[in-house]
Amino acid sequence: MLKIENLEAGYGKVKVLHGISLDVPAGKVVTLIGSNGAGKTTTMRAVSGMLRPSAGTITLGDRAIQGLESHRIARLGLAHSPEGRRVFPTLSVTDNLLLGAFPRLTGSRARGDVARDLDRAMDLFPRLKERRAQLAGTLSGGEQQMLAMARAVMLNPEVVLLDEPSMGLAPILVDEVFRIISRLKSEGVTMLLVEQFAAAALAVADYGYVLENGRIAVEGPAQRLRSDPAVAAAYLGGH
Ligand code: ATP
Repeated sequence: MLKIENLEAGYGKVKVLHGISLDVPAGKVVTLIGSNGAGKTTTMRAVSGMLRPSAGTITLGDRAIQGLESHRIARLGLAHSPEGRRVFPTLSVTDNLLLGAFPRLTGSRARGDVARDLDRAMDLFPRLKERRAQLAGTLSGGEQQMLAMARAVMLNPEVVLLDEPSMGLAPILVDEVFRIISRLKSEGVTMLLVEQFAAAALAVADYGYVLENGRIAVEGPAQRLRSDPAVAAAYLGGH
């Protein structure tokens, strides 16, 4: 569904990704783990068009998307829930969610039923349902994080990129985020997940890649990475 080959990207003269290749098959959850600064967020930004790759190819379905603008990539069915809480603070929860569906209404993909998807998003995120009329800027940090994730789901995307969905959340909300990821997975949603909680990410994922200094150091079925002593020692300690 999403295939990244020999991707290179960086900021100005500084190269961060030195030719990485990842495969995210339809209906699977793939996780990208690695230390701070390894290039995980840079990978997500390059895939969604927020950052222009300097080399490599990115294929979504059967279309090459590298170098396209982010709004075009969204219309083609790739949703990016970015790191940090990117919500529209002066709009209500419901309006934030409706905006998530906007790219697909202007694109060539089937429009689907936005009202039904709004119900589904509220159902997946009961905390948002209770607060549907509240202005997003007045939600707690954790609730805003969930709203960003729910908004990505509203695109009814082919692939969702989730960048640190649990960042800064209280443990109880971290559990809830992982439950939601499992549920999306059971509904067949294809996901690329970046997570600080590598053990939890590998528990929900089918396949994992370990990124070190902008290169893929190890990859394999998630189950195998969880029991790999080198991966455990470097990335799974304490979680
Ligand atoms: P973390 O787990 O800390 O979020 P990460 O693996 O997601 O790390 P990136 O955010 O992709 O890492 O950062 C990779 C490298 O690129 C880092 O050295 C970072 O300082 C650098 N970098 C990130 N964003 C920018 C930017 N806008 N301008 C310049 N350098 C950047």
